Amino acid sequence: MGIELASASRVAAVKERTPVIATLCSHSSLQIFHGARHEGLGTLGIAVGKPPRFYEAFPLARPDRFLSLPKLAELGRHAATLQREGAVIVPTGSFVEYLGPTAFNALEVPVFGNRKVLGWESDREKEREWLEQAQVPMPKKFANLDAVDGPVIIKYYGAKGGKGFFLAKNPEELADFRPTGPYVIQEYVVGTRYYVHFFYSPLSEDGYRVRHGSIELLGMDRRDEANIDELYKLGAQEGLRRAGIRPTFVVTGNVPVVLRESLLPQVFDVAARIVDTSVDLFGGMVGPFCVEGIVTEELQFKVFEISTRIVAGTNLFPSGSSYSDLVAPQLSTGRRIALELKRARAEDRLGEVLS
Ligand code: ATP
Repeated sequence: MGIELASASRVAAVKERTPVIATLCSHSSLQIFHGARHEGLGTLGIAVGKPPRFYEAFPLARPDRFLSLPKLAELGRHAATLQREGAVIVPTGSFVEYLGPTAFNALEVPVFGNRKVLGWESDREKEREWLEQAQVPMPKKFANLDAVDGPVIIKYYGAKGGKGFFLAKNPEELADFRPTGPYVIQEYVVGTRYYVHFFYSPLSEDGYRVRHGSIELLGMDRRDEANIDELYKLGAQEGLRRAGIRPTFVVTGNVPVVLRESLLPQVFDVAARIVDTSVDLFGGMVGPFCVEGIVTEELQFKVFEISTRIVAGTNLFPSGSSYSDLVAPQLSTGRRIALELKRARAEDRLGEVLS
C-alpha cells in the first residue's frame, strides 16, 4: 500500500459509479476527453460562459455534457453535486491559474494527482529547493546583479509564459534592467530546449522503476515562443532593442521532437530523482508532469522548470508518440490518466492517485 492522498469518504462516489472526468474547456481538454471516452469513462466540460464551439468539429473529443458557469469561481457551489456524481477533476495549467490556488486547494471534488504539488511548483524558490535536493543539473543562479559574469535570464516570481523576462548577454547590458517586482537571476543556458512528458504511477510495478512505482516517457515537444523564436529573422539584438523590440516567451504552439537516444538515460535519471524527492517532500507528484530543460553542446541536460501536471505539448499525441508507441499502442497522456484511474479503482487504491 502506498501513500494515501485522499480519504475514503472523498473518493467514495468515484468507487461506486462510473467516474466522470471533468476539466476546463481549454488547454488539453480535447485530449483528456478523448482519452477518457476511449476508456469508457464519463466526461464533463467546465465552460466559462457558453461551451466553445470547437468541440462540434471534434466529435471523438466532445464531452458528454457541459457545466456552464458565469465565472470559474462559481465551481465551488457545484462541488457537492459533482462529488456525488463521481467527478474527478483533471487539473491543467489553465484550470489552476483561472481558479486560483486557494480555491483550487479548497475544492471539495476529487482531483487527479496530488494537490500539494502546487505549493512547490508555484514558488520559484521552493521549486529550486526541490530540484537541488533531487541533485539535478540546473542553470546557475546568481545571488545579485553584481555577481553576474555571463549571459543571464532574469525571471519574475510567478511569471507565466516568461512574462517580462529580461535577457542580458553580458553584465554591461544589465544597465538597462528596471525591475518591476521580485525576480531571480539565472544563467542563460545556450543550447536546445526539450520539454519531456512523463507519467508517474505510484501503482505500477512494471517498466522504469522509481522508489514507489514507476515512470513512463510519453512524449516530447518544443514550444514555439513568440516573439523570441522568430526574432532572428529581424537581425541582431542590439538593432532590435534600438527599435524597441524586446524578446518575449509567450507560447503560441508546440512542435514534436525526439531526443538523441544516448541522452535518454540522463533524462530518465533526472525524472526519477525529481519523483523520488517529491515523495519525500510532499507525498509524490502523481500522474503527468513535464521536465523542461536545455541540452548544451557538452550534452548536459539542464533543467530550468518542471510542470507538475499535464502540459499542452502532449496535445501533439492523441494517438501516441514516438515514445508512448513503445509503451502501449494509442497511448496519449489523456488516456494514460483514465487508465490509472481505472486501475486504482479496480485495486481499491483511489486514495493514492486522487487528492
Ligand atoms: P511557464 O509557467 O509558462 O512554464 P515561466 O514563466 O515559469 O513559464 P520558464 O518556463 O521558466 O517561465 O521559462 C520560459 C521560457 O524561457 C522557456 O520556455 C525557455 O524558452 C526560456 N528559458 C527559461 N529559462 C532559461 C534559461 N536558464 N536559459 C535559457 N532559456 C531559458
